[in-house]
Amino acid sequence: MFRQVSKTHAVALAAALLILLGVIYFYLPYDIRLCNDSNRAVPDSRDVEDTSISKIMESRNCPKNGSWKVGELLMPSKITYEQPSTQQGRTDVNSVTNWNAPLVWEGTFDPVVIDSIYKPMDPRIAVVVFAVGKYTRFLKGFLESGEKHFLVDFRVTYFVFTDHKDEVPEIALGKGRKISVITVPSAKRWQDVVLGRMKWATATIDQQIRGEADYLFMMDIDSVFHGRFGAESLSRMSAVLHRGYYKNTHRDKFPYERRPQSQACIGAGQGDYYYTAAVWGGYLEDMYKLVRYCYEQSEIDAKNNIEAAWQEESHLNKYLLYNKPTKVLSPEYLWSDYDSKPDDIRVIRISQLVKNYAEVRPNGGHD
Ligand code: UDP
Repeated sequence: MFRQVSKTHAVALAAALLILLGVIYFYLPYDIRLCNDSNRAVPDSRDVEDTSISKIMESRNCPKNGSWKVGELLMPSKITYEQPSTQQGRTDVNSVTNWNAPLVWEGTFDPVVIDSIYKPMDPRIAVVVFAVGKYTRFLKGFLESGEKHFLVDFRVTYFVFTDHKDEVPEIALGKGRKISVITVPSAKRWQDVVLGRMKWATATIDQQIRGEADYLFMMDIDSVFHGRFGAESLSRMSAVLHRGYYKNTHRDKFPYERRPQSQACIGAGQGDYYYTAAVWGGYLEDMYKLVRYCYEQSEIDAKNNIEAAWQEESHLNKYLLYNKPTKVLSPEYLWSDYDSKPDDIRVIRISQLVKNYAEVRPNGGHD
């Protein structure tokens, strides 16, 4: 009897062990099972069947649009790219801030690596541009060149805010890209358009764009893209160094708002960089917070009968002093046709056009 029971137990135990081993084998990362494959040095459970990040996100129950883990830098396997170096790189410019955020210049990133990380995420990118009054003339050049250089192969919606709907040109757009037109009133002062952007963008992000985008860029329309403006620009909060003040300018000479009556005031001895408000971007919710901040602060200023020296740009600079950007983009990400290209700017990715201020602005005048 005893021998009979122990034999049955032994068979049951062996069967249970076999099942357990089978289960363990099934859940073992594929790489470990194939550890003789020299290309797979690091065990990676993402590699089981489909290496695309969207599949991985699906398997993690991350909805494709909106709530994927934007901070994760997942990369599919089998991508071929140059080995990065810890010794070679740009030495003529600083490529990191003192809060350890990347400072992006040509030569500080590998487009192959960047694209293979970001493209499978398939983020939706909103671009908010205003073309009010005579500024509609800039739409064609901006949109056509954007289709050649701006986040190519990504899903992009250009939100065009204009008082002349009929002047928005027909543009051949790439797959997954569209133009959404939003009507805004005309303005008598260019300053009202520039600052009004914050009010209109706040309301429209809240009511419409929030459901349609993961990242948002605010851009001036009087610009033309000339080179890659790609996923290396994406981060939680990306700000662009103003070309006029990015080198050899003491921070006390930055054109920050200096009057204490303004909410945008930055005192002497303070500040990191001077950022342009002609290109800035980031995660949708972070951008919403910042655009709304600029709007609300300018409203407080208006109640106190003051307008910040450089309108929303002054408020933007104040905010970014205390909420450091997670990426700082070099002036490659906004140059100007007014200036020749210095040696440290290896690529002009987008450039502001020379314009006749007196002719194009409703109330004329230069900055
Ligand atoms: N803008 C506009 N209509 C105007 C003035 C400004 O649509 O009458 C918008 C447009 O998008 C422009 C941006 O506001 O690119 C910034 O204005 P502007 O280019 O005049 O400022 P600058 O960069 O030359 O100081």
